[in-house]
Amino acid sequence: MKVFLDFDDVLFNTKKFVVDYKKIFRLHGISEDVYKKYYYDYLPNKKNSKLKKYISEPHIDKIGKEEGIDVSALKQDIEVFLGTASKYVFSDVYDFLGSFKKNDSYLISYSKNKFLESKIKNSGVAKYFKKVVMTDSLKSLPVRDIMREDNIKKDEQVFFLDDRIEQIDDVKKHYKWIKTVFINRKEGRYQNIADDMCDFECKNLKQAKKIILKNS
Ligand SMILES: [Mg+2]
Repeated sequence: MKVFLDFDDVLFNTKKFVVDYKKIFRLHGISEDVYKKYYYDYLPNKKNSKLKKYISEPHIDKIGKEEGIDVSALKQDIEVFLGTASKYVFSDVYDFLGSFKKNDSYLISYSKNKFLESKIKNSGVAKYFKKVVMTDSLKSLPVRDIMREDNIKKDEQVFFLDDRIEQIDDVKKHYKWIKTVFINRKEGRYQNIADDMCDFECKNLKQAKKIILKNS
């Protein structure tokens, strides 16, 4: 049995994290409008791309440059804030991760960047996983790589948990035998609706644990 897990909005209360993150900008005199204006306004984001990447540093640099603000103190405060990331791990995560072997658990997070890396590192959850992968592609690619590297066969029970329908669709399209679990927390940021690519839908990891144990 193997479990592939997503980070943001599945293990991590990203919505709450963002609320507190934004407060730091306010404290440094940066308005909501300015914050929003440059939110995705840097490379590699393009206007029409569906899965945009939020990266803290270029966002702050862009604000500094375009608005003529010294952002060095803001950057320092963000660093300190990132150090508190373990506060935002959902409370049902530890019981869930403790129920599966480290060797059977994989974390796959969308977008490869320093901000996400720091969030994951400071959250303290990495130690529960055999591998922690950050990817700029849809997740069927890292799933494929892990299955090859670790010799995971079709007859193995594999569960893929995510809060994003496009990731579920992509994995299910490539690997029909993988069981997809759509995590739809009330605290999540996205109001996705389950489609026929989702084998299961859960409100939290307590429910997900039951489903996995029952179906593996
Ligand atoms: Mg997510």
